[in-house]
Amino acid sequence: MKAHRTVRYRLHPGSARKNRQLHGTAGACRFVWNHMVGKLRDEYEFGIKPDFRHYSLCNVFTIMRRDDGNTKWLQDYPSKVVRLSLQPIETAYREFFKDRGTGGKLNRQLPKFHGKWTTTLSFPVDYQSAKMAGESLYVQKVGWMKLVGTNPHPDGEFKSGTVKCECGNWYAYLVHEVDAQVSLPHSIKEVGVDRNITEGRLAVLSDGTKHGGPDLEKKVAKRKRYERSMARKREVWSKNQKNLCGPKLQGKSRYQPSNRYLRVQIRHQRACAAERFARKNWGHHVSKAIASEYDVAYVEKLNIRGMTKSARGTKENPGRHVKSKSGLNRQILASAWGTLELCLNYKLEVRHVNPAYSSQTCHQCGHVDKDSRKRTDFKCTACGHADDADVNAALNILAFGNGAAGRGGGDTGGAPCHSRPGKRQEMGKESLADFAT
Ligand SMILES: [Zn+2]
Repeated sequence: MKAHRTVRYRLHPGSARKNRQLHGTAGACRFVWNHMVGKLRDEYEFGIKPDFRHYSLCNVFTIMRRDDGNTKWLQDYPSKVVRLSLQPIETAYREFFKDRGTGGKLNRQLPKFHGKWTTTLSFPVDYQSAKMAGESLYVQKVGWMKLVGTNPHPDGEFKSGTVKCECGNWYAYLVHEVDAQVSLPHSIKEVGVDRNITEGRLAVLSDGTKHGGPDLEKKVAKRKRYERSMARKREVWSKNQKNLCGPKLQGKSRYQPSNRYLRVQIRHQRACAAERFARKNWGHHVSKAIASEYDVAYVEKLNIRGMTKSARGTKENPGRHVKSKSGLNRQILASAWGTLELCLNYKLEVRHVNPAYSSQTCHQCGHVDKDSRKRTDFKCTACGHADDADVNAALNILAFGNGAAGRGGGDTGGAPCHSRPGKRQEMGKESLADFAT
């Protein structure tokens, strides 16, 4: 079986020309994207069915490139890259019309414009527009550039990727096709993982191990300091500024940050990245520790996006406890639940279980009572069994997962749903039946 693995490299353009060319390529992609999005939007608003096929958009792009007017400069930039960057428009329109056909339940939106100062500089590459050889990357019309980073999949075949400017430096995220090893050993060791937001016990295993979270205090303080600093700087240039030249912009105000703002913005981006990497590093450490001992991990199937939804509500119908909910949301997001699961996913097999009542069920007798749990301690109101609350929950998750649900408490709601990485759509009745027997 083939699987795809992304490797992140630092990309060194090597010369000022190549650096300019990278910036220009990202700019050309953005320019053409905005042109197409505007054109299709106009057509849609006039009541014409827009021709959003990738093929047609590429034809329009070819005409733009050949145009002797204002868009001939596009010839300086790689056409294959720009064409590739238009692919999401077709996908977005297809999804939009499909959603409209079924009553708009998913609330799909039309593709949005990419702002010059609000979008990350990036462009996609694939095996047609780029080549990878050893530690170098070739991009059409840019040339060979040096890659720095370790590739854990040296035998992997380069398929596609994204070139991105992060914190003022260029990075390449290259996707490799590798052989996935999915064979499991004969004696499978299983573990239940309970995820929390309490400090010092972000991930608790059913064997009693508690993993604390990454130490982010200083990093968060730094990021917040830059945020305050950015708030003091001028972000929008008002009308008729000198630097806003060009006939189109006369008399119009435009979003353009000041240079002081941009300087702090890069520092802020670096602080955010440091925080992100610390979290990811923690995820890899903890998942490595788990994967070195176990083959299968059971985790609760948590809808993190739904759980961290704002409680603000609408203007007519404002939500309650908005502030405390936003604090909880921040804690959930800071505790890196998603990161841990992602890291676990490619070290061992992750199976999901229904999270209902996992913290209120007694692992010994299966009695469900919310009074059994007092913060970090668990004392069963029926049989008196006492344990650490999170360890008890992790044991329940393991039991829900491997079919020994609740030991006599069949109505605990702990129906397991079985999922493999990349195969979520197959989850359902079939795997439920597997576990019911
Ligand atoms: Zn009990």
